[in-house]
Parts: sequence; C-alpha cells; structure tokens
Amino acid sequence: MTAKLEVDKLSYKYGNFEVLKEVSFSVAQGEFIGLIGPNGSGKSTLLKNINSILYPDDGKVYLDNFDLQNLGKKEIAKKLAVVPQNTNVNFDFTVEEIVLMGRAPYIGRFESESDEDYEVVKEAMELTNTLKLAERPISQLSGGERQRVILARSLAQQPEVLLLDEPTSNLDINYQLEIMNLLKKLNRDHNLTVIVVLHDLNLASEYCDKLLLLEDGEIYAHGSPKEIVTAENIEDVYGSKVIIK
Ligand code: ADP
Ligand code: MG
Repeated sequence: MTAKLEVDKLSYKYGNFEVLKEVSFSVAQGEFIGLIGPNGSGKSTLLKNINSILYPDDGKVYLDNFDLQNLGKKEIAKKLAVVPQNTNVNFDFTVEEIVLMGRAPYIGRFESESDEDYEVVKEAMELTNTLKLAERPISQLSGGERQRVILARSLAQQPEVLLLDEPTSNLDINYQLEIMNLLKKLNRDHNLTVIVVLHDLNLASEYCDKLLLLEDGEIYAHGSPKEIVTAENIEDVYGSKVIIK
C-alpha cells in the first residue's frame, strides 16, 4: 500500500528549542487520523511542517510520493488544505470572498474567477451550510459559523488531504458534532484523507480510524483508538489518572 502522506524522521527546532524529534508516520488514502497529545507536545508545529508554513530542519514530507520540498505552493494547495487553529479574523471580507480565496491556487496571476470557481465555492458553502451567510462580513459571525466558513474555504481548494488544527475547540457540543459529522461525510463520500488535531479524546475515539499520540515532540503511540486511549497511555503521557469505561 502506498502512502498518501508520509512523514519521515521530521525534526524541527524553534531557534535552539527542539520541538519535533524524528517524527515518522504514514497515512493511507482515505484514512481519518486523529492527532492527540498534551498542550505543547508539538501538534500544531507538526501540521505547519506538513503544510510548508514551517520547513523541517531534518527529515521529509512526501505527498503521493513527491517530496514536498520539490513542489510549488500552488501544487501543494491543490492537494492539501489546512484549517488552522484559532483563525484570527481582523479583516472585513464577506463570507463568499473568504471562501473564494480557496480558489487562489487555480487562478492565474492575471486571470479572474471562472464560472467553475464560483460553482466549487457554492458547493463548498452548501456542504458547510454557509450559503445563507454568503454576504455577511466574517467578523460578525459566531465562532461556530466562522469555523464552518474557514472549512468551506479549505474545501474550495478541492484538496485530497485535509489537515485541521483543533477545529472544534471553543465550540458548543452541537457545533463540535456538526463539524465532526461533516468531516466524516467528506471522508466517506469524497474519499478525503483527514488528519485532525483534537483536544477531546472522546471525540477522537468516536470519529477517527487511527490515532497518533504525540508526547514531547515524539510519536508515543500510533494505532486504533482502542489501542491508544488506554488508562496507562493517558497516565504516561498526560500525567493524570483517568477511568476509562
Ligand atoms: P501543541 O499544538 O501540541 O499545543 P505546539 O506545536 O503549538 O504544541 O508547540 C510545541 C512547543 O513549541 C511548545 O513548547 C511551544 O511553546 C513551542 N512553540 C510553539 N510555537 C513557537 C514559536 N513560534 N516560537 C517558539 N516556540 C514555539
Ligand atoms: Mg496547537
């Protein structure tokens, strides 16, 4: 089985501070992977290295067997999209304008949006239930609505792999489930490969095929939720005793 995404001995430092230490794992096409681990364990840094926001000091990331270093930003953005953690919105674009930004990798420098671009945008907005918000300034939206808009923007990229950094944090439980159910649907119906950082171990266990547990910049364990979310692992990594039913 060839990997859709492969991370090979990836190491990353902020200055002298070593955050990721030879992280290796691979993800098959169509998998739904949860990335879990305590605050500061390096989850966001790992996603940023996969998405070429940061560049590894050592190691490689392969997408469909291509070394990401050899791909251009636009090429990457056509295959891989990211929903970042806590998107700050301090500009006043409308929802439709924001979602249209997802089409940037497909639009040439001196071109304007095509009918197809608008169709893809509409579809992304339908899927995320944001069509009715199209004309609203994003700054006026609730947290849950905003998360859905940012998700719509990443879907407008028509990615094959979607990375999400805590897309459900700060949301009420009904919005959390709404986002997770949508991701599951995209995964099942559109064969989208999903890698999602989750804080909530219950959500992670419920929705993900496999979990990657990060501890202090290293993969502590990788396997099915049943294998990973054990009292022993949680005590080891999170340092707290839990009772798991
Ligand atoms: P997580 O997402 O798992 O909470 P992060 O990847 O955000 O972890 O952070 C991992 C470690 O790197 C933490 O110790 C954090 O303080 C540190 N860190 C994160 N961003 C920076 C930065 N821009 N400069 C220096 N250190 C950082
Ligand atoms: Mg983080």
